[in-house]
Amino acid sequence: MIPRAFEYFDPPTLEEAVALLEQHGEDAKLMAGGQSLLPMMKLRMVSPAVVVDLWRVPDLDTIRRDDVVVRIGAMTTHYALQSSEVIRNTLPALADAARVVGDPLVRNLGTIGGSAAHAAHNADYPAVLVALDAELQAVGPAGTRSIVAEDFFIDTFTTCLEPTEIVTEISIPVPGDTECSAYLKLSRRGTDFAIVGVATALTEGEGGRCDDARVVLTGVGDTPVRATEAEEILKAGPLDPERLREAGEAAKRNLDPPSDVQADAQYRVDVSGVYVRRAVAAAWERSQSDVSGLGN
Ligand SMILES: Cc1cc2nc3c(=O)[nH]c(=O)nc-3n(C[C@H](O)[C@H](O)[C@H](O)COP(=O)(O)OP(=O)(O)OC[C@H]3O[C@@H](n4cnc5c(N)ncnc54)[C@H](O)[C@@H]3O)c2cc1C
Repeated sequence: MIPRAFEYFDPPTLEEAVALLEQHGEDAKLMAGGQSLLPMMKLRMVSPAVVVDLWRVPDLDTIRRDDVVVRIGAMTTHYALQSSEVIRNTLPALADAARVVGDPLVRNLGTIGGSAAHAAHNADYPAVLVALDAELQAVGPAGTRSIVAEDFFIDTFTTCLEPTEIVTEISIPVPGDTECSAYLKLSRRGTDFAIVGVATALTEGEGGRCDDARVVLTGVGDTPVRATEAEEILKAGPLDPERLREAGEAAKRNLDPPSDVQADAQYRVDVSGVYVRRAVAAAWERSQSDVSGLGN
């Protein structure tokens, strides 16, 4: 399939990119890695008159960490995240997700900012960003604003971004020594989107307790779904296999996932419980070397 004709710009600065978006309004689309935009243009699901490519804009692909926060440029590729020692050591759930996005071609070109802005309901990063309490920085004609990930995703393929805004950076708090995270995904083949994916971030407390828990699912709703009932159960006592099982069962309640060619709704509900259990166990075992077997 061939996209409709469009005008192509690759501005060398962020200011020029914003100006182009302002000038062309809803006729313009930003391009990052092109791994979602180009297939949609080829299928003519979107036909922008103007494409504004971000590849020449400097400093959008860096990963920086200080004592408080990890700052990830929006143009950082999945491959760069997957292979970053900072990400692997500080935000293991994000490294887990980057490793399982699509295939090597997609991971070499696709970006975290593009994935977040695309907001597919079954993408891997959105759940991770919500679980890790990320904030997205967006630059537009009125300046810069910061949006917490939980408010960013509005619907499938819809975010709270204005058409003139560009995501420049994603910032994620550096977890404390007692915090750990994991992301686990079920897909039919290695390159497929998630049937179900679960991101967890846990804080270990005294006596085998979990002081804080964030559990977020992808693939089961229009946006990342937070399993709040499961989170409360995880925090209510020592984290043992029975508590994990209860949390998995709680995560299944009130889910209303879609049926599609990959899996029907009931299957998604059933595996959600299993994947919540396993993802929580994976994060917990990362923080506690003496506990094993929780995920069985
Ligand atoms: C074969 C295949 C398999 C895939 N498998 C997976 C998978 O398993 N899991 C998964 O999560 N994803 C998967 N993807 C999608 C992939 O992760 C894409 O990289 C991602 O969705 C889009 O990133 P991109 O950088 O390519 O963005 P683009 O395709 O360039 O842009 C996507 C959208 O975001 C907008 N946009 C891009 N950058 C910005 C920005 N900085 N600010 C504001 N808006 C912006 C664009 O205007 C466009 O609307 C797959 C894609 C393919 C082709």
